[in-house]
Amino acid sequence: MPDTLRPNSLDSFWMPFTPNKAFKADPRMVVRAGGMHYYTPDNRAILDATSGLWCCAAGHGVPRIVEAIQRAAAELDYATTFNLGHPSAFEFANRLGQILPDGLDRIFFTNSGSESADTALKIALAYQQARGKPGKYRLIGREKGYHGTNFGGISVGGIVRNRRTYGPMVSGVDHLPHTLDVARSAFSRGQPAQGAELADALERIVQLHDPSTIAAVIVEPVAGSAGVIIPPQGYLKRLRELCTKHDILLIFDEVITGFGRLGTPFASHFFDVKPDILTMAKAITNAAVPMGAVAASREIYDTILNNAETPIELFHGYTTSGHPLACAAGIATLDTFKEERLFERAAKIAPYWEDALHSLKGEPHIVDIRNLGLIGGIELSPRADNNRAGEVFRKCFDAGVFVRYTGDVLAFSPPLIIEKAQIDQIVDTVRTALKQVT
Ligand code: PLP
Repeated sequence: MPDTLRPNSLDSFWMPFTPNKAFKADPRMVVRAGGMHYYTPDNRAILDATSGLWCCAAGHGVPRIVEAIQRAAAELDYATTFNLGHPSAFEFANRLGQILPDGLDRIFFTNSGSESADTALKIALAYQQARGKPGKYRLIGREKGYHGTNFGGISVGGIVRNRRTYGPMVSGVDHLPHTLDVARSAFSRGQPAQGAELADALERIVQLHDPSTIAAVIVEPVAGSAGVIIPPQGYLKRLRELCTKHDILLIFDEVITGFGRLGTPFASHFFDVKPDILTMAKAITNAAVPMGAVAASREIYDTILNNAETPIELFHGYTTSGHPLACAAGIATLDTFKEERLFERAAKIAPYWEDALHSLKGEPHIVDIRNLGLIGGIELSPRADNNRAGEVFRKCFDAGVFVRYTGDVLAFSPPLIIEKAQIDQIVDTVRTALKQVT
């Protein structure tokens, strides 16, 4: 790496979700990006098989998005949205409402997926209060669920390592069982055939706590962070039916599944299941500016507004909710998705993606391959040092492909602009790396 590009010291930046000591002893840096690639300081192209972090759905450095951000920064650098409006926030909310499931068009802006999760939970509780049911306060998450890192999100989340250090968290939370079943469903193409009955666990939770105490259930339609867990056929529909039956709100965390990842605008469209509240982030701006959002049904919005005891109906918000740069980036991102027909493109290339990933069956260490839309997960058998997937990740990076790993799972979520030859490159690189590790 040229000295001019090497930071003087790597010590100060406390890196998130990273083994800091190992990284700083052997850093990987990128200095620019364009299209499907990152570039290292010595100008090596690295194919991005994970859209940054499930974010850059339209690829990197999209000129329309870059220009929109530049224009917005020069025109209106910042305006609060507390008691003050600016046009792009309203425009972007309207535009999101046009692609969200019908009727989910009341949009609360946040700055991240974690903030979206906590905002969604708070809206659910505020709604139950506003409709005269304050006793409905329990929140039901799911084992292996990931809803970011704030206290609400880790309380309903179900990844042990993200929870165990941080005390008692939000009270009144229970969890559904997770739906990963490698023993029964390994190497399923798309949705596993077995497992819809796991949704019935909600009946037992309801019997235990009584529905009059339960505000909402929150799940990821497809779970990413716990290692790519595809919902069994019929599972989400069953969950929806049970929530409706027991007067419980259903929240879909669509932070990774939103914006075309499954070839439809949202996973709700793909599964034909409509939640009451839906969270977004990441690809909402193609990640060019941090942003998140929560979509609530009109019924929820109207109930909270019409029953408020104070002029401010919801005591919640962020200094940078609806930031002008984020809204500009978001509008340009939606324009890009539409004009380049990227959701349709993802749907069209998904079968090729599926075949390519499953061609890895039989390679060393693989115990399961999972896929849906432009999502892929390869689960490896565990190794004593818990780091086999980490080693594959590093080998792939050295060979010019950026994948993601979480536990023993390699996770893939390439930009929706990916070409077939690039899918082949990803699969070939992973195949070679798997043969090199013990
Ligand atoms: N929810 C889900 C489903 C996610 O996958 C993530 C991040 O990966 C989050 C929430 C948190 O998003 P952020 O890291 O932007 O806070």
